[in-house]
Amino acid sequence: MSKPYSRNSVRKPFCVPNKLVASRRQFLRLGGSLLGMLALSGLPSNVFGASKRLSRVAAYPFTLGVASGDPTSDSVILWTRIDPAALSGLGVDDDAIDVDYEIATDSGFSNIIRTGNIVAPPQLGYSAHLELRGLSPQTVYFYRWRLGGEISPVGRTKTAPLANSSVQSFKFAVASCQQYEQGFYTAYEHMSNEDLDLIVHLGDYIYESSWGDVLVRRHEGPEIVSLGDYRARYTTYKSDADLQAAHASAPWAITWDDHEVDNNYASDISQDDQTPEQLLARRAAAYQAFYEFTPIRLPVGRQGPDMPIYRRLRFGNLLEMNVLDTRQYRSDQACGDGRKRSCNDHMNPARTLLGDAQKKWLFDSLASSDAVWNVLAQQIMMASLTSRDEQGETLWPMDIWDGYPFERDELLNHIHDRKTLNPIVLTGDIHSNWVADLKLDFDDPRSKIVGTEFVGTSITSGGDGSDMTTYGETLLANNPHVKHYNGQRGYMVATVNEKSWQNDFRIVDKVTVRGAPIRTQASFVVEAGEAGAKRV
Ligand code: FE
Ligand code: CA
Repeated sequence: MSKPYSRNSVRKPFCVPNKLVASRRQFLRLGGSLLGMLALSGLPSNVFGASKRLSRVAAYPFTLGVASGDPTSDSVILWTRIDPAALSGLGVDDDAIDVDYEIATDSGFSNIIRTGNIVAPPQLGYSAHLELRGLSPQTVYFYRWRLGGEISPVGRTKTAPLANSSVQSFKFAVASCQQYEQGFYTAYEHMSNEDLDLIVHLGDYIYESSWGDVLVRRHEGPEIVSLGDYRARYTTYKSDADLQAAHASAPWAITWDDHEVDNNYASDISQDDQTPEQLLARRAAAYQAFYEFTPIRLPVGRQGPDMPIYRRLRFGNLLEMNVLDTRQYRSDQACGDGRKRSCNDHMNPARTLLGDAQKKWLFDSLASSDAVWNVLAQQIMMASLTSRDEQGETLWPMDIWDGYPFERDELLNHIHDRKTLNPIVLTGDIHSNWVADLKLDFDDPRSKIVGTEFVGTSITSGGDGSDMTTYGETLLANNPHVKHYNGQRGYMVATVNEKSWQNDFRIVDKVTVRGAPIRTQASFVVEAGEAGAKRV
C-alpha cells in the first residue's frame, strides 16, 4: 500500500515568492497528498523543483481550456492545465510553473477585482487548481489565465447563494456518459447557451476502452491502465471545443462512475482479469488523472487508490446536493454481474454500494437537512428496473441499486422515517432518459412514494439512439413505478424554486453528424410536499 504522509519530505525542497503565501500553503497541501498518490502511480515522490516564471512559451499552453467547480457561497475552484508542448525546450525540467490569473466582474475584464498566481506542478500533470476565496454569494465572475505572454479563454463562474438565504430560482443541467468515439458533443454546445447556475456531471466523463459500431472519431491506443494513459485519454476528450465551451459557461460539480477507471469495477475488483493489487494501482493512476483534469477541491483523506470525492453542495435554503460515489466502496456485483436471477450473494444484507463511512455521512445529511429539496447526485438507477426471463423468473440488473436491495431499502426507509424534505435522485449510467417513483416496496402498486428519480441520458454514449426501443418498452411494461423512457442523446435541465422542480429532457436527434438542434422531448414537474412527478 501507499506510504504514509511525511511532513518533512514535503517541507524541504521548493521555494515560492513570499508574496504568494496562500498559494504556497495550497501547494504544500497538494504536496502532502501527492506523496500518497505518487507512491502507487510509479513516479518518484521526492521531486519538488522550484517554481519557475516563464517569459515565453514554446506553444499555446491553454489547449484544454478553463473550468470551474464546486461553488460555495464565498469560493469556487478555478482550473486550467498547461500543455506540456508549451514547455518544450525551455529547460524547465521538473520545475513547477507559475501561472497568473485574473478575476473580473465583467467578461471584457474592464473591472478586474483580483490577480495573482499559483503553481502548476509536473507531479500533477501541470494542472492548476486555484481555490478562490472571499467572493460574494450568488455572483457571476469571469476568470482567465496567463502564461509566457499567452492568455487563456475566458471562463464564467457563479458562487452559490448563502446557505440559509431564500432563492428565487436555481437552474442547472445534468450530464453523463460522453464516449468520445460515438458522437460529437453537440449537446454541450447547446448546454453552454442555457444560462445555468451549475452543471452536474454524473460520471463516464472518459471511457477506458473503445466500443460501439458507429465511431465518428477515435481514441488513441488500447485500453488504458497507467497514469500516462489516463492523462492522454483526458487530453483527447478535453480537447473538444464544445466540452470546453460548457466548462467555460458555468461551474461544474463532477463525480465519477466506472469508466473513469474500468467498466463495472467494484472497489478493488476489475471487470476482467486484473488482480486486486493491479486494479488498486490502476485506480490510483485513474483517480489522480481525474483530479488533475477536474475542477474539484483536493479530497481530504486521499492516499494512493483511496480518494473520497463524495461531498455536499448547498444552494441557499432551496437545495442541498449530496454528490455520491457508488464505485469506490461497493461490494462486488452479485451473481456474476449483468441481468441475472437472484442468488444467495444477492440476498446477503451485508453487501453495500456506499460503504460504511459514506452511508453514515449521507444518512446524517438526509436526517438533518432543512433545505426544501434534497438531492442525491449519483450514478446508477435507484428505482427497480427488473425484467423477466422466458420462464417468467425475475431478472435483476446487478450493477445498479437492484443488485443491492437491502441498502436501497435501508436508504428509502431512512428518507421516509426521517421525513427528508422532497428527495430527488439524479442518475446517469444507462444512456437513456427515465422518470420513476421511488417506493418503499416496488412490488406493491399501493406502496408509498417517497421520492422521485430523474435519469438523464448520455451526451454521446450509444450513438444516435431512438425515442422508443424494445429495451425501453419491456422495462416500462414490467415496472409500473417507471413513468417515462426515451433513448436519445442529450441532458436534463432542472429549474427549481420553493414550490416546484421542473425537469426538462433536452435532446439532439443526432450525434453522429454535427449541428443537430436541441429540443425538449418531455418535461416533468414535482410539486414540493407531494412526492411523484407529473408530465407537463
Ligand atoms: Fe456510460
Ligand atoms: Ca457507467
